[in-house]
Amino acid sequence: MENRLHFYNTLTRREELFVPNVDGKVSMYTCGPTVYHYAHIGNLRSYIMQDLLVKTLLYLGYDVKRVMNITDVGHLASDADTGEDKMIAGAKREHKTVMEIARFYTEAFFHDFARLNLRTPDVVEPATNCIEAFIHVIGKLMEEGYAYESGGNIYFDTAKLQDYYVLSNQSEKDLMVGVREDVSEDGNKRNKSDFVLWFTKSKFEDQELKWDSPWGVGYPGWHIECSCISMKHLGERLDIHCGGVDNIFPHHTNEIAQSEAYLGHKWCNYWFHVHHLTDRSGKMSKSKGDFLTLSLLESKGYDPRVYRMFCLQSHYRKPLEFSYEVLDNMGAAYDKLVKRIAALKQEGEVDQEMFAAYRERFQTALCDDLNSAMAFTVLYDMLKEDVSDATKYALAEDFDRVLSLDLTTAGLEDGAENHVDAELEAYVLEQIEERKAAKKEKDFAKADAIRARLLEKGIVLEDTREGVKWKKA
Ligand code: AMP
Ligand code: ZN
Repeated sequence: MENRLHFYNTLTRREELFVPNVDGKVSMYTCGPTVYHYAHIGNLRSYIMQDLLVKTLLYLGYDVKRVMNITDVGHLASDADTGEDKMIAGAKREHKTVMEIARFYTEAFFHDFARLNLRTPDVVEPATNCIEAFIHVIGKLMEEGYAYESGGNIYFDTAKLQDYYVLSNQSEKDLMVGVREDVSEDGNKRNKSDFVLWFTKSKFEDQELKWDSPWGVGYPGWHIECSCISMKHLGERLDIHCGGVDNIFPHHTNEIAQSEAYLGHKWCNYWFHVHHLTDRSGKMSKSKGDFLTLSLLESKGYDPRVYRMFCLQSHYRKPLEFSYEVLDNMGAAYDKLVKRIAALKQEGEVDQEMFAAYRERFQTALCDDLNSAMAFTVLYDMLKEDVSDATKYALAEDFDRVLSLDLTTAGLEDGAENHVDAELEAYVLEQIEERKAAKKEKDFAKADAIRARLLEKGIVLEDTREGVKWKKA
């Protein structure tokens, strides 16, 4: 049976079969980073799990167009439009201009992307490129009575909507729990949940980046950026919108409100949210001061692919607690895995039936709400299977299109060769033990099969008085 992707849709609050608007094509939008500082490994968890989604879609044969914004203006310390402007705070901290900060941290972000084998989105658009588009959409919202001016700012009037909380479906009090610091009140709003579309002189006189608009010189709010950038590149009907769970409210809730008010119809069908990375003190966040970056992990000797594997081993909808201890274990598991694959001989035929059967199992795991832990089980089962090395190698290469762990090449990188021998030795000793057990149970056919299998790999067994010895043929 053909595998079809199911995943949890925050909008309908259940796992659903994924059906794109256009057969075979997927439009996907991702909230990108606010480039005022390095991404922490929590942010990167979110992008790793979205990469799993993109690569699963590609693996299943979809043609995917993915767009990501870069927030280089308009994001305040609190997601509810209060507090300091993050970009200005970053520029002050480093005695640089906002654009210098933006450039530096955008580069750092994509450096992390590359180190984690994350596929770069097809379009990456900084918010400052799209000011005209924001003004156009805000203008229409004003015309149609969805937005109002107050205290110099333009706000979206959430009372104009029937179901502002369609995505989050909770009380406002509950929703504020996940929101970042500094939730102070803005007296200009008509309703508590209203949000800023355009800031003018009421805020930050020292704002470096500002543009002329029908409502005065100012700059856009954070939420409007994502709606406009998505519509600009992906049109009026979006298949999948991604982010971390903290984005559900208010950010994604506001995106739906303004996009659907502007379009006059439903905008996005599937909302995909990744749960948080935590440490012992709770959700990892930049506002806490010390935060873990990928470079820091690298400076401590951790391979970024080990962090990727750590994330993939757990389900995207569960919180994941980070600890060095678990990462150490994952490092050992990764080394063992890639060395085992490096020890495979690429000789012989690929067993097509077995290849198809394992591919099917791998797809089934992914199609079940991206069960990546199960996908690893399929990989390990496959490596234990009684089938030619060529088949195993071909499957490892195939699975790596989604897992992106350099499964067939990492074990051959510098310094890995000695380990390959150690790995081979461990494998042979394990096989010798198994053969001994088979003989004890008088299962001579199995014992002979093990001897033959080792011979195929160039290993000769000798039964001596001191026990079984082995050598390379
Ligand atoms: P930011 O650069 O702060 O806008 O965040 C970028 C992305 O990382 C957003 O999609 C957030 O939802 C996500 N995010 C923030 N903190 C975490 C965390 N601790 N774990 C996982 N994802 C996170
Ligand atoms: Zn966004």
